[in-house]
Amino acid sequence: MLTIVKPTLSDGSGFGARIMERLETLAALTDEPGAMTRLYLSPAHRLAADCLRGLFHQLGLDAVVDAVGNVVARYEGHTPGAPALIIGSHIDTVRNAGKYDGNLGVVTALTAVEELVRLGERLPFAIEIVAFGDEEGVRFPTTLSGSRALAGAFDPASLDERDRDGISLGEALVSFGCDPGKIGALARDPKDVLGFVEVHIEQGPVLENRNLPVGVVTAINGATRLAVDVYGAAGHAGTVPMSLRRDALASAAAMMVAIEDLAREQRELVATVGRIEARPGAVNVIPGEVRFTVDVRSPDDAQRRRAVADIETRLASIAQTRSVELKTTTTHEAAASVCHPAIVEQVEAAVVRQSVSPLRLPSGAGHDAMAMARLCPVGMLFVRCEGGISHNPAELITAEDADMAARVLLDFIRHFRPVRAD
Ligand SMILES: [Zn+2]
Repeated sequence: MLTIVKPTLSDGSGFGARIMERLETLAALTDEPGAMTRLYLSPAHRLAADCLRGLFHQLGLDAVVDAVGNVVARYEGHTPGAPALIIGSHIDTVRNAGKYDGNLGVVTALTAVEELVRLGERLPFAIEIVAFGDEEGVRFPTTLSGSRALAGAFDPASLDERDRDGISLGEALVSFGCDPGKIGALARDPKDVLGFVEVHIEQGPVLENRNLPVGVVTAINGATRLAVDVYGAAGHAGTVPMSLRRDALASAAAMMVAIEDLAREQRELVATVGRIEARPGAVNVIPGEVRFTVDVRSPDDAQRRRAVADIETRLASIAQTRSVELKTTTTHEAAASVCHPAIVEQVEAAVVRQSVSPLRLPSGAGHDAMAMARLCPVGMLFVRCEGGISHNPAELITAEDADMAARVLLDFIRHFRPVRAD
């Protein structure tokens, strides 16, 4: 059942324990008993939104569930109505998720602001804490609805998208208590928003590998996906001599090694062949046709485009050497979202002031910050997670690292200087 953890206005030490306790409270709010599943606009999402609203109200903050299902709380600065720094993350999850993806960023933001409330500390700007509802894009074929709405980039056509039970996004919003007709009005005036900063688990192994609790995100990687078709000649595995073969699968293997080599030569670029099919797929037949996928990501769009062009050249050369035909199709392309250099510097300075060696790293996964980047300068702080595991019940962080994340966020807020958006 829903239990609201009473915020303990303690001496300010031990943010970590409080964050972990609140994450456990939220983790109990699931659509699937025994697993962490909280889909956008589901009953568990409603419980989590109400739970957070209750926590914000206990801190004396205004908190509402807006027309797209975001929970938005506001802590005024010296002057009521001042432009706001927005902090937060998302509270929807994938099916059978972990407890930290998204939720950590919301709870850390809440806990940092709780400390300001405790000390009666006001800043020259307001702080808004947002718990977005549609980051994972699991229930509907949409994603980032909450952050897109604030950025003025919500597509009203997505209200007709349906989940697997045939319920449209518009209908689900109404059942949640929202008025979809008011989503357009959620778009913020860039003059009222100073920036967006999100704390999130890394979802990768880099921080653990470097033995660091937190890291400073520089960009959210852009991505290109290719479908590669290789056409050789099928033949009898016993009768065709090696010198006369046009083996599509052996050719694809050489291509995969070339792709891996190319990615290894570059900094911060990653390339993956995640899926391969060979036809006809029999133990005693030389494969005549192969299709495989390539996923290339980089924080630098120019580097990614160059790498994709290099991959195409190398594959063509392998195809020629091995006398197979090649067809390459781009199936997906998304530009990188760069964190604002001034926000990156300020997050980094906060990390340094907490005596942590600063490491800059790109994000390989997508985040609400991508959509918010259309509205205002954005930045992110990554928190180490065990084994880099995410989207899995085995997701794990430590209370010490959560504590450090809250300290860095609080320090960042206290030293925050508004920057001009590009
Ligand atoms: Zn997330």
